[in-house]
Amino acid sequence: MIQTIRGFRDILPEDTALWQAIEKTASKLFEDFGFKEIRIPVIEKTELFARSIGEATDIVEKEMYTFDDRKGDKLTLRPEATASVVRAYIQHSMGASDAVQKLYTIGPMFRRERPQKGRYRQFYQINSEVFGIESPYIDAQLILILNELFKRLGLSELEAHINSLGCKECRPTFQKELLNFLNGKKEHLCENCLRRMDKNPLRTLDCKVPECRAAMADAPSTLNHLCEKCKDHFETVKSVLNEQHVDFIVDKTLVRGLDYYSRTTFEILTTALGAQSAVAGGGRYDALIKELGGPETYGIGFAIGFDRLAEIVAQMLNDAKMRAHNASDAKEFQDKNLYAAEFLKLVSIKTPDIFIIPLGEKATRLAYMWTSALNIAGIRTETDYSGRSLKSLMKRADKLNADFVLIAGDKEIEDNALVLRNMRTKEQYFITAENPVEQLETFLNRV
Ligand code: AMP
Repeated sequence: MIQTIRGFRDILPEDTALWQAIEKTASKLFEDFGFKEIRIPVIEKTELFARSIGEATDIVEKEMYTFDDRKGDKLTLRPEATASVVRAYIQHSMGASDAVQKLYTIGPMFRRERPQKGRYRQFYQINSEVFGIESPYIDAQLILILNELFKRLGLSELEAHINSLGCKECRPTFQKELLNFLNGKKEHLCENCLRRMDKNPLRTLDCKVPECRAAMADAPSTLNHLCEKCKDHFETVKSVLNEQHVDFIVDKTLVRGLDYYSRTTFEILTTALGAQSAVAGGGRYDALIKELGGPETYGIGFAIGFDRLAEIVAQMLNDAKMRAHNASDAKEFQDKNLYAAEFLKLVSIKTPDIFIIPLGEKATRLAYMWTSALNIAGIRTETDYSGRSLKSLMKRADKLNADFVLIAGDKEIEDNALVLRNMRTKEQYFITAENPVEQLETFLNRV
């Protein structure tokens, strides 16, 4: 039997309801904040990612799915969305109509990482990118949006970490000081850090190897080297977040794994899946658009890890269901998670409104016709073409958890009296066989 490749997986129907609910909640929130959806290809020229993400990054060095197409062009399955959105922004001169563009996109990304819980080789991200705004208000707003989205999804145990990496004015001085520091610590640094010291010294700050961490404990921080403009920018981000009651922690080790970031970077961390891991991350990339051949334009964005988010929300829902057995806990859950109730409605499993049980050939044809008409009218209706007995079809209706069953045997059709049974109250009604669709529509709107 042929199976999925390592690190790839199917998202099955039992989970897609939750994925769709998250997607709906996110796009509604983005649209309310003035973002518009953009859809971009999953394959791009390799050069796009090599130039934007940076040659000396994990992604470009070892994680990209890159191949030659039949004409020998080097192509890559996108490992992230920002580079492609920037390419689209430049290619379509999107800034010409309005300098400010607020975009979001949802889709799969591909990185050849070591698969483990919460980490896949095809994973999904919810991305948002804003072009044309230098103001720190937008930095704060993106973090506010993440905060609001996670609140609507009922999430807790989150920590927003923020940092500022400075700009092309102040970063060189900092890098020089960092290099001096690193040179004095060479014997304690891992191979990766040593190799990257010259190309990408900032990455040594977030190395996860314990010896490196210890060696870097008193490393210089970008925050002590910000120029006046970057300092003011970061101060405003923080004060606005404080005023809007968005909690955050200033984390000087937060440099993020991609080269293009400047000024504000941020990550939302959670312990919900065991060890602390990031569920979203982002930051400013003011130099990237020019770097990729576009006009000098400010840029900032974030990526939410959809797979991890879905796992956390699923866990949260399970907890809620368990707690719902205890009425006071359930109330507490709802009080605390103002939006969870709204979201719960979105995730609730859709069961049939009506299950039509046809008995006989003529009835089966009619049942098909009525079912189609009811489906078109927006009433979730199922039927069965197998010709099985009333008893076994009642069982199927029960399993599908249908609200109503319509029993339509050839005889009932002839007698012009179909039986409509409320599966919850067991009440029965008769409806005529001439225009059952209209009758059911009126009936269902009434009950
Ligand atoms: P990044 O683009 O690396 O900043 O990632 C943004 C978010 O995407 C992370 O915080 C993760 O939640 C998620 N993510 C990144 N890589 C993977 C992966 N291989 N599998 C699942 N989620 C991922």
